Amino acid sequence: MTKTDLRQAPVLVMGAGIMGAGIAQVAAQAGHPVKLYDTREGAATEAKARLSATLDGLVAKGKLAADAAAPALARIEPVGALDASAGIAGIGLVVEAIVERLDAKRALFKQLEGLVGPACILATNTSSISVTAIANGLARPERLVGMHFFNPVPLMKLVEVVSGLQTDPAVAEAIFELSRVWGKTPVHAKSTPGFIVNRIARPYYAETLALLLEQAAEPQVLDACLKAAGFRMGPCELMDLIGHDTNFAVTMSVYEANFFDKRFVPSLVQREMVDGGLFGRKSGRGFYRYGKDAPAPALPVAVHEAPATAHEVTVHGEGALADALEAAATKALAAQGWGPARDRESAWTGLRVDGARLVLTDGRTAQQVSRAMGVADVAVFDRPLVQPPLPGTALAYAVAPQASPAWRVQSAAWLAALGFAPLPLADAPGLVVARTVAMLINEAADAVLQGVCTPEGADAAMKLGVNYPAGPFEWLAGWGAGGARGVIGVLEALDAHYRGERYRVSPWLRRRD
Ligand code: NAD
Repeated sequence: MTKTDLRQAPVLVMGAGIMGAGIAQVAAQAGHPVKLYDTREGAATEAKARLSATLDGLVAKGKLAADAAAPALARIEPVGALDASAGIAGIGLVVEAIVERLDAKRALFKQLEGLVGPACILATNTSSISVTAIANGLARPERLVGMHFFNPVPLMKLVEVVSGLQTDPAVAEAIFELSRVWGKTPVHAKSTPGFIVNRIARPYYAETLALLLEQAAEPQVLDACLKAAGFRMGPCELMDLIGHDTNFAVTMSVYEANFFDKRFVPSLVQREMVDGGLFGRKSGRGFYRYGKDAPAPALPVAVHEAPATAHEVTVHGEGALADALEAAATKALAAQGWGPARDRESAWTGLRVDGARLVLTDGRTAQQVSRAMGVADVAVFDRPLVQPPLPGTALAYAVAPQASPAWRVQSAAWLAALGFAPLPLADAPGLVVARTVAMLINEAADAVLQGVCTPEGADAAMKLGVNYPAGPFEWLAGWGAGGARGVIGVLEALDAHYRGERYRVSPWLRRRD
């Protein structure tokens, strides 16, 4: 197919549900004549009525010019039947947003092939079905492409432009360009399970579910740690919002589609909640309770003493985090009239207080670090992702079981004196943020290795599709001393601890070791 310009093309949106209505709105606001069809009688007309209220709301809020709403609405035409009366022969683009079933989508596109002209592009908004599989059986499979929007369509900037095995690159390019014209940020993706966002995001939920399974911490603690790292919502509150039924179904579909690769194995914690009908917000109870009498989840209250007088305090390590620790330790010791020493050549990052050590996690448990160092008084702390850490940043830590009672108290006292809000965790490898982010990077690295997307595409997709504070490759670049080695170290420590395929290191990362 030669270069196609879809800017003026009449658009047919199939399915007038949540996504179809949003797609019709965006297309109409961009000036396209839009036909909207749904098999359920009256659904398209009802959707148009809802869009009328939406557009009026936008005008009232000053987000849409008063004279733009009526023409946009007038461009949307509900059609009652898919036959000659619908006038769809001249359609330039079909965007399908019907029920998420392969048989239904295949049948629909086959039917459409007989109704639209030869230049018409066929796009599917599927979130989990192979674009290659949907195209199978079409007379012209090369004109079918994925155009994966995110909910709510008018607000979410990302569009994954998904190419199946037979998709013509010119077709993908035309959809890419059109998405831009519609004010979106398109990212090319290859048709693989979960495409970009739903695949790379799996560890955000999976690592928290794994920590819950082994009773390392309560949901509100895990949520607080990841929110402190810049994520807009913690994984537990996010799963409650998405719905555990939906989240579990996506996890299952990615797991099955990857031939039951243990990397994607779903969690018993979530299955139990789904089986029990604890779907989250929509059912009134998930990890948290909802409703007016529901208790607000509270973090454990802790009052930390001031650090005891020490003879020697040394900040270990190189890089931004060690610098921030040095600045904080200098401030903490100023009242006593002295400051910390600095050991930039050290093999670890953190703080030495006389014989005791507060060590930035490298993926090993506090027990393992303590044994390897031959020091009983060891605590490990999680990776503060935001540099320099803001005062009061929630941060997980764990104390080695062989540590003295005094260091149990003092390790938290020092973290508090350094400006953190320390949250105790069971001695889990990689704590919360380091292990979650290392796994997000690892999954993104595999996606790039397999040609699903570019590193830039993955970063854009995660920031725009799920509002991550940074992209996985940006985290990798900012990991500090060691870069890829540091991330690999965390993964290898997790792999050694749990022994399985889940934490195997992506060859893409190994090549950068
Ligand atoms: P929905 O249930 O709100 O809407 C689907 C609509 O399609 C319904 O109105 C239904 O009557 C209609 N329909 C079913 N079969 C049809 C057919 N053969 N022809 C015409 N209309 C038909 O669903 P949704 O949430 O809008 O999802 C639609 C598609 O978008 C699915 O493929 C879904 O995976 C994908 N998607 C959903 C989201 C989301 O967050 N909801 C995000 C991205 C992609």
